[in-house]
Amino acid sequence: MRDIIQLLPDNIANQIAAGEVIQRPASAVKELLENAVDAGATEIKLIINDAGKALIQVLDNGKGMSEMDARLCFERHATSKIQKIDDLFHIRTMGFRGEALASIAAVAQVELRTKRAEDTLGTCIEVENSMVIKQEPVAINTGTSIAMKNLFFNVPARRNFLKSNAAEMRHIVDEFIRVTMAFPDIFFSLTSNGQQLFHLEKGTLKQRIIQILGNQYNAKVVSVQEKTDYLNIHGFVGKPETAKKTRGDQYFFVNNRFIKSAYLNHAVMNAFEEVIAPDSFPMYVLFIDLDPAQIDVNVHPTKQEIKFEDEKIVYAFVQAAVKHALAQFSITPTLAFDIDAGIQQSDAVSKPFTDEKKSAAATSNLYKSFTQSNQAHFIDTGKSELKHWKSFYEEVKQPADDKFEYEKQLPVKNDDPGLNAASADLLGFTKKRKFQFTDETVFTQLHNTYIIVPVEEGFFLINQQTAHERVLYERYAAALVGMSIPVQRSLFPATIELSLQDAAMLTELIPDLLQLGYQVEPFGLNTFVIQGTPADLEDGNEKSAIEHLIEQYKHFSSEVKFSKREKLIRSMASQHAIKPGKRLTPAEMRRLTEDLLVCAQPNTTPAGTPTYVEFKGSYLQKMF
Ligand code: ADP
Ligand code: MG
Repeated sequence: MRDIIQLLPDNIANQIAAGEVIQRPASAVKELLENAVDAGATEIKLIINDAGKALIQVLDNGKGMSEMDARLCFERHATSKIQKIDDLFHIRTMGFRGEALASIAAVAQVELRTKRAEDTLGTCIEVENSMVIKQEPVAINTGTSIAMKNLFFNVPARRNFLKSNAAEMRHIVDEFIRVTMAFPDIFFSLTSNGQQLFHLEKGTLKQRIIQILGNQYNAKVVSVQEKTDYLNIHGFVGKPETAKKTRGDQYFFVNNRFIKSAYLNHAVMNAFEEVIAPDSFPMYVLFIDLDPAQIDVNVHPTKQEIKFEDEKIVYAFVQAAVKHALAQFSITPTLAFDIDAGIQQSDAVSKPFTDEKKSAAATSNLYKSFTQSNQAHFIDTGKSELKHWKSFYEEVKQPADDKFEYEKQLPVKNDDPGLNAASADLLGFTKKRKFQFTDETVFTQLHNTYIIVPVEEGFFLINQQTAHERVLYERYAAALVGMSIPVQRSLFPATIELSLQDAAMLTELIPDLLQLGYQVEPFGLNTFVIQGTPADLEDGNEKSAIEHLIEQYKHFSSEVKFSKREKLIRSMASQHAIKPGKRLTPAEMRRLTEDLLVCAQPNTTPAGTPTYVEFKGSYLQKMF
């Protein structure tokens, strides 16, 4: 019998080792972005082709590498970040194992260009199968560009394991967001197949959160900030009314590294327990900073789990910090008419705080350590007016998907060009209506912003802008699948010149735009002629209408979960909705109210902002 053990050839060993670090395009994206951050860059651009299967390139303006380092960085365990074992326990950089570039070089064709500020010429190196195949000096700006082409070109089995482009791209965007969220003071962009998906200017954490997660959180986040000797926590949580039915906008970072932790997630959910519905998920972006010695660094960095020296302390701390933050966003009865109408949307504030929970919370030391004056209404349930306030909301709260029941057919009006018989039918406008408005019903406009509609013994307070946005959204959705919105041809068509990216985007949208009443025709490379606009569009400036639309659309582009059409109609609805400050005639108010009440989802805008609040007669009586 002969011996059967043999040593694997280097290139196979390298490929196997690489598999642990680079599982898919997104893992390479994470490593390259982190290297750029570690290099002190203030601007980092990510370029992707074919969901990273063809190209992943990261360009940074960081400190660059010397010629020697440029060759060395592809060696396994080549790192500038630790020198001795003790350094491991103080590590503050994102990477430290010196495995990423070696792994990438084993499974892709890599081109590195790098220059330090003190050097006149930079270095360009090409690597394939872990071997340097070309090296030459290049004239470039200070910084580094690493392009990896044809990932897994030499490991077909692995390449076959990759998912669809859409799935791989989603992973890439996830990793991109995790890094960009942690470094709001760095500019980032992401371009995929020539189209810029993200363009994130430097700013504050709050600005970054809104850039990434969307405007829905504008003015709807609460700052979390606590400092102790043991650890610090800072970040933001969404106000209760922004909680969603799907998990998603939830981020934990420990020492600026994104982590997944069911345990800490539980701590946040616990803090939110009394203020959001049980099956909804609050937004949070929380940064925990503590002495690196308190974290087990031997957990592999590509895994997103983490081990704390004392997990329980971190849990209690996170929970208390979030509770404290929510408490400061306190809601008192006297404010009931000032507060954001969104509150009534979430069952949130109305739920009773049970006695056991109350005593359990009150005996916890962390709870005690926070000052009494900062406690939220849901912790302090002693005041009697508060109970009234809650019962008011209990009565009016309606789940978002609650449908209205209409008792009478909607009369289809001819004077509205957008809402014709066809679109009305598509929306299923054959429901009965619940609220009868007589011809005598008086509609009152408040501050040119809200509409007061008396119903039964109470009244509706409608927000004209959000209500109109909902109405338009459903109208556009119907137009896309049914009868298009009539185009009004312009006598003197305007031309519009766009950047190449915007032009590519607009070209894609032309057919859908036509369905929505915009007739746009290409005219050369990046110029378009606007032949016509929707017949019911009020302001005459077609050009700025299209420009605004593109801006809005770009804003939605970060919402990868939406289809092209969904983004388009959301953009149009929010753009065309009447704005606060616009005076409405009684007939217009009546029309808007009727249009809203026949919507399939009248309660909120597509983004979830409430459109109206109902004040019940029984509540009004209780007030006096
Ligand atoms: P690690 O980040 O764990 O040190 P990597 O394999 O990711 O290991 O990188 C190896 C080394 O190459 C880094 O320690 C750093 O010195 C250098 N390096 C990598 N990327 C860059 C970059 N974008 N700019 C400057 N230096 C870099
Ligand atoms: Mg690294």
